[in-house]
This record gives sequence, structure tokens and C-alpha cells, in this order.
Amino acid sequence: MKIAGIVRLEDISKLCPLISRKTDSFADDNSETRKVQVGRVCFGGPRPVVIAGPCSVESYEQTLEVALAVKAAGADMLRGGAFKPRTSPHDFQGLGLEGLRILREVSRETGLPVVTEVMDARQIEQVAEHADMLQIGSRNMQNYTLLVEAGRSGKPVLLKRGMAANLCEWLGAAEYVAKEGNFNIVLCERGIKAYPSGEYSRYVLDLNVIFAVKEHTFLPVIVDPSHATGVSAMVEPASRAAVEFGCHGLIIEVASDRLGAPKPKCDAAQAIGPATLARIVEFAAAHNDEPLKVNAHAV
Ligand code: PEP
Ligand code: MN
Repeated sequence: MKIAGIVRLEDISKLCPLISRKTDSFADDNSETRKVQVGRVCFGGPRPVVIAGPCSVESYEQTLEVALAVKAAGADMLRGGAFKPRTSPHDFQGLGLEGLRILREVSRETGLPVVTEVMDARQIEQVAEHADMLQIGSRNMQNYTLLVEAGRSGKPVLLKRGMAANLCEWLGAAEYVAKEGNFNIVLCERGIKAYPSGEYSRYVLDLNVIFAVKEHTFLPVIVDPSHATGVSAMVEPASRAAVEFGCHGLIIEVASDRLGAPKPKCDAAQAIGPATLARIVEFAAAHNDEPLKVNAHAV
């Protein structure tokens, strides 16, 4: 029985024809992943991409220190928030334009392309001018005005999954970007709200969704083990698990472990040090293969 109004997975090709595997106009072989290029970094290729950096840009010195450390650990790209979506308006909100300038400068010095969050359609021009890739955060996944503007910007987009979004809603959001002619979209699973979230981990890391995403769309999908767990000790095993599940990359929060380095202003409990990142990069690099071809319904 089909209940009216409920979208079933099989209907994703109708809901999102532009990004659906079934109606894929890009690939001859519809088991292929679309390659999304950000500078010399390629998402959807044979090797998982590792993006790493601080939660927030706090100063030029802090950002440069972490960027050099993640580069030395083998990361491909730099992350860092200039506009921060915080639960309390009294908490650190990010450095804004100053943060974007720092990211641009550190990116130039290290040669690492940079991704940063854009929270509002009014910021798009400014963020697009300074960053190589626009991040749409979990809280904004269904901000349709922002999605349309991100699509029009022509910049590659990292689209995080809403923390309570199902697959249809997430892919529907990606379809908004694609509808503007921008297919340079990378999806990012970052943990969802489910029954035990908040008790022993921040969210619940939905690894299963990697299979479903790969079955229904040709867009690459990466995993954020930092926000998904919220616990630094869980970040390395979660990263390994995500790579085993066939994700096309990871985005990880890293802080300096230098004695006397100031504690991050945001998400300190989930930050890992550069040595842990180096082990994750090594593990990811060993998976230098097109991940498993899947068919979630063939059980
Ligand atoms: C972030 O990556 O900085 C962030 C705030 O993530 P999310 O939108 O997934 O919470
Ligand atoms: Mn964070």
C-alpha cells in the first residue's frame, strides 16, 4: 500500500531527476561517481579526500599553525568557520570577514584549498570571493534561498545533511543547487538526532546512509566524524568506519596540541591533534580504490 504524500526511496528519481543515478546525464556507466574538483583536489576519485582544520578561525596565528600541521599530516584541504552557527547568541560567532581574509591568506601560504560555511544568502558573494568551496551547514540544509544562491555562485558546494533530515530531504536540497546549473556538489553526513544522541555522543553517525546515497545519486558523499560524535576519542574509529563504508572523504576538526596552545573557543571536546589526523590520512590513503559498488535493495 502506498500512503498518499509519503515519498518512497524509489521515487527519488522523480523528486530529484537532475542528481538521480537513474536519470544521470553525465555518465555512460551509471555506477560512476561524479568527480567534483576543488583546485587540484578531486572528490569522487579513487582516494578519499581529507579536509581538516579548526572548528573556527580565531586568529591568523592559530589558523596558520593548524593549517601547517594538517598539511604535514597529509590533509588535502583546509576547513575553518568564519561565520559560526551557535546555539547561544552570546557565544563566539566567528570573526566574519576578518576570518575569511585569514582563511584566504593561510590557504595561499599553505597551498591548501579552503572550505568555509556560508550561513546567509547575503554573505554568498563575500564568502565565494575568499573560499574555494562553500559549506552549507546542517542548520541551513533546507534554507532554499541560500541553496539557490549557492547554486548560482558556480562555486563547489559542500552540503551537510540536516541533523533531522531524511534522504529525500537531503537530496532534494542538493537538487536546488543542481537546478541552478551547479553540479559541483559534495554531500556530507554529519550525524543525526536519534534516540540516544546527546547521552554518550553528540549525534548518531548514520554510516548506512552512505550506501543509500551512492545508490540514488552520482554525487560524492563524505563524512564528518567530529560533529557526528562530538568526542575526540571517537573521531579516529568513526573515520575508519566511514572509510570502510565507502565514503569519498572526511572533514575533521583539528586543534593544536602544542603545550600552552589556547583551547579552541568552539567544539574543543571533539578536536583531535595532528598525530591522530596523520593516522587517519594514512588509513584513508590505503583505500586507494573505487569503493564497493552497492545495491542496498539486493539483500
Ligand atoms: C561545522 O562544520 O563547522 C558545523 C557547524 O557543522 P554542522 O553544520 O554539521 O553542525
Ligand atoms: Mn565545529
